[in-house]
Amino acid sequence: MASSHPSAPAVAQKGTIMAELSKYTRAKVQPHLTGIKPYDPSFTPTRINLSANENTYPLPKGVREAVDKALAATPLNRYPDPMANDLRDKLAALHGVERENICVGNGGDELLFNFLLAFGGEGRRMLNFPPSFSEYEFFASLTKTSVRNVRRDRKTFAIDERATLAAAPQASLAILTSPNNPTGDVADPAFVAQLCRQCGGPVMVDEAYIEFADQGKSMQSLLSSCPNLVILHTLSKAFGAAGIRCGYVIAAPDIVDVFGAVRQIYSVNVLTQAAAGALVSERDAFEPVVAQIRSERERLARKLEEDERLTVWPSQGNFLLVRMDEASTIRQRLRDEYSILVRDFSDVPSLNDCLRITVGTPEENDELLAALAVLLDEEA
Ligand code: PMP
Repeated sequence: MASSHPSAPAVAQKGTIMAELSKYTRAKVQPHLTGIKPYDPSFTPTRINLSANENTYPLPKGVREAVDKALAATPLNRYPDPMANDLRDKLAALHGVERENICVGNGGDELLFNFLLAFGGEGRRMLNFPPSFSEYEFFASLTKTSVRNVRRDRKTFAIDERATLAAAPQASLAILTSPNNPTGDVADPAFVAQLCRQCGGPVMVDEAYIEFADQGKSMQSLLSSCPNLVILHTLSKAFGAAGIRCGYVIAAPDIVDVFGAVRQIYSVNVLTQAAAGALVSERDAFEPVVAQIRSERERLARKLEEDERLTVWPSQGNFLLVRMDEASTIRQRLRDEYSILVRDFSDVPSLNDCLRITVGTPEENDELLAALAVLLDEEA
């Protein structure tokens, strides 16, 4: 008979996603899960949230109405179309590819997990380029995939291309982020093409932030010559829709079929499909918002760079990585005294004393700059 559950299991502490495993669950979960550390977005409610690289701008005029109309016309009593074909068609038209080249997921996160589930696993190795998005390693650990970390240059965050190409044949999959979160740099297409040729399995380029990059930075044109290339997109950033949970991959049909086969059949619900369809149809309305975020990024970077106590890296995303003394204290004081939330990376290797600041609206950025100026003086 199964042993009974003890009366006092561990309870998630306030502000954390999951507490330590209880004695009971430690004994019962798969052994490789006992040490697992869930992704912690370090969220606390604040007046100004510049911590999660969301689009902090209001939806463009008319877009919310289009979304609401689509939601209102959606019956809730039927299961969703498993592959979200109407949405796939809209996304295919947006990117100039075919429906067969697209698989939609419950956020980019689901597709990242499914990528690891399908192509990783015990005895498989993922090529990873830290510092980068920590979910990759988390999903690798859930799926028992080993990780070969090719560290970026400590100062410029450039990828070590020689080490990567040497390690690629032994890898079962690779994930490269462009623009990279949190360092903001974009990958070189010639290098990505080489990586695709050398890698022992599919190569995903995570383009979650690509809309904020200069024109022509997407790897999409490589798809025809690199059959193992997978490009990840999300509606969580430029489209201002992190709450609806919608991401998609573009890849060759045989790879898309694998994503289609391993996914939970109804993971993209009817409301998400309807809202995402409306957002994609209104794509052009987002151009001015994206342009403003790009110009605010440059303004914010210039202002921060004026202060010689700060190091600011050039960024092609909707965020800036900034190094300063006492970064953790400053982040805490921004939150507690000004109700401004930014992300602390100071305990991540190569990112000591670094904060990541999402580019907000002009008003949000001004408040951040003013608060930071005071705190830098006080902590000097
Ligand atoms: N990739 C990168 C690099 C990200 O930063 C994020 C979100 N923080 C994602 C993927 C996943 O985004 P979502 O699940 O919201 O689509």
